[in-house]
Amino acid sequence: MVEYNVLHVGGGIPSTTLHLMFFLGELKAWKLDCVIFPDTGAESAPLYRHLELLHSFAGPYNYTASRGKLGHDLLSKRQLLAGLPAHSPKISAPVCQLTKQYKLKVLVEKIRETLNLKGRQTFPRRQISVVLFLAVTYDERRRAGLIRQRLAEYPWIKPVFPLIAHEMTLWHCRHWLRNYGKLPLPVPRSGCVFCPFRSNKDWQWLRKNDPQGFAVAVEVDRNLRLPDSQAIRPRYLHHSGIPLFKANFDVPESSEAKKRLGFHRECEGFCGL
Ligand code: SF4
Repeated sequence: MVEYNVLHVGGGIPSTTLHLMFFLGELKAWKLDCVIFPDTGAESAPLYRHLELLHSFAGPYNYTASRGKLGHDLLSKRQLLAGLPAHSPKISAPVCQLTKQYKLKVLVEKIRETLNLKGRQTFPRRQISVVLFLAVTYDERRRAGLIRQRLAEYPWIKPVFPLIAHEMTLWHCRHWLRNYGKLPLPVPRSGCVFCPFRSNKDWQWLRKNDPQGFAVAVEVDRNLRLPDSQAIRPRYLHHSGIPLFKANFDVPESSEAKKRLGFHRECEGFCGL
């Protein structure tokens, strides 16, 4: 049985830390065969620049896989908007339905492609087992079980969480990156520019550092409430239930709102779980 070791990356702080730890040989128990970034085509411009820089020195087997530009698809095939975890007043944001198509399936297809498997060819489970490394931090370890459940439909993939094994929280990752010192900091947050799981600080940052990405988010937000959107209640990208173009990003959220909306999370490919 051959073990094929894949690192999934999203480009944010945990994933950058894990990527570099592999690159520097700090995870001696494991070795990598390749690195895959399932790209929604909707990350911020600074995140793409960061990934380009990271990939220029962190290992030769970096792949990007994508099924297109999610922002464009949301605006042209508007039924997709129903899958976006937008906010409605007094209702918790639902799970993102876009992750599966735009990240998980893209990742799985790329793994199969790198193994030279054709279309619907049955996965040779007796010959190959895929170890998938995921950058989930120790403080987010509850997600590991949920990710395992989501991956259960691919029994040939074994998810492994090195940051959890090393009890590394997001704080430890930031500290590790500061000590590393060879990347411009702060590392941008990963996630679609129109992701509703953003704090005011994140929205402010996006508007300043990626005006085009912010404009896409405003357009997606506007489309959520067009008369033919089929939504029973009005839906918004901003958690306050105000159209994004006029939301006030200067107000800090309550800690309850931060916790409920998962503002500390990074979209590491399984963000909808
Ligand atoms: S970043 Fe947000 S919108 Fe994009 S796939 Fe993840 S949860 Fe969905």
